[in-house]
Amino acid sequence: MNYLNKKSVEDINVFEKKVLLRCDFNVPLDKNGNISNTKRIDDSLQTICYLIKNNAKTIIISHLGRPNGSKKAELSLKPIADYLTKILNVNVKFISDDIKNIFPEDFDSLKNGEIALLENIRFYKEEPLNDLDFAKKLASFADVFVNDAFGTAHRAHASTEGVAKLLPSVCGFLIKNEVNVLCRILNNPERPFLAILGGSKVSDKIGVINNLIDKVDTLIIAGGMSYTFLNALGYSIGNSIFEADKISLATDIITKAKDLNVKLILPVDNVVGKEFSANTDSLIVDSDSIPEGYIGLDIGPKSERLFSDIIKNSRTILWNGPVGVFEWEKFRHGTLKIAQAIANSRAVSVVGGGDSSAAISLLELDKGISHLSTGGGATLAFLEGKSLPAIDALDDK
Ligand code: AMP
Repeated sequence: MNYLNKKSVEDINVFEKKVLLRCDFNVPLDKNGNISNTKRIDDSLQTICYLIKNNAKTIIISHLGRPNGSKKAELSLKPIADYLTKILNVNVKFISDDIKNIFPEDFDSLKNGEIALLENIRFYKEEPLNDLDFAKKLASFADVFVNDAFGTAHRAHASTEGVAKLLPSVCGFLIKNEVNVLCRILNNPERPFLAILGGSKVSDKIGVINNLIDKVDTLIIAGGMSYTFLNALGYSIGNSIFEADKISLATDIITKAKDLNVKLILPVDNVVGKEFSANTDSLIVDSDSIPEGYIGLDIGPKSERLFSDIIKNSRTILWNGPVGVFEWEKFRHGTLKIAQAIANSRAVSVVGGGDSSAAISLLELDKGISHLSTGGGATLAFLEGKSLPAIDALDDK
């Protein structure tokens, strides 16, 4: 897969063309239905503004939440149309009609530089089924297709992969940028290259570990999955989260790292709790002294210092997944320290995943990170070396 060879919106003529633009406006909403974080919309503005400036007539499609094929008022894209109208200072025409009742002529009144936004595309069961007739209907609205929804690129849906096969199709700036950054760190990183992988399960990250092990100089494995690795090395891990059926995978990775001369680093100490709960009593213990019955919930101060030193001496850093139970204030210290160390480093830094990005935002460290990836599952799939069907379907240069 050579995604660097995909055409982008700059490689085609969009002047006065009807452009179908797939965005990822899957933003969090508060209990009153207001957008609580606009980052995903803001990250799409470069492509939208480019299309406005180039006199295109833009018809935007997005999903929001999981309506599972039915119309749910609380997951309407209307608040997003209002936000776009305000921030772009152009009237964004919100089209709430059922797709069945929308026809290509309905967009003839759209003037050059104007924007229409269709209702939540996941209100239709045909979308995740990648239904051909549904994709044909969407394709009939426009002359060209621009995909800028990196967050859904690992899924072959009608509005991503289906429609791309039916129209001249290119990527927008957001996808182009994600692909450029991720390809650069995977193929040509400045060394030393450090990957820090956290999160709960080995099973979720094993594909990424396997794909990165021969590319990195150092691999830090922390968070819940580190206990399976510590156990594979013979440590007692109390009642820490642990996947018995992944012990042999962990052993293989440890051996592979040795063979490849990759430094595989695990936490040397841990904050452990009596119970798996937010305010449980806790202790700090070395990794070889986790008491019977206790649960590892965060890395300890020695690990924080060790990891921070490695971060300081790296030139490329990839971070995915928290090193502790980040949701609970008492056990998020380690993750916040890692976020700080990465933001303070001079390395090219790429951060992906909900909790890692949340740690960066919580401390307002965004400026210290070279690239905050917008894709969760899509970024992981890319890092696993899997192809992304929605990008595969775009035209090559
Ligand atoms: P992931 O989505 O794979 O990046 O995993 C994120 C989840 O890992 C978060 O919900 C964390 O609470 C969880 N996690 C991190 N460290 C631990 C731990 N030591 N024990 C249990 N869960 C953890």
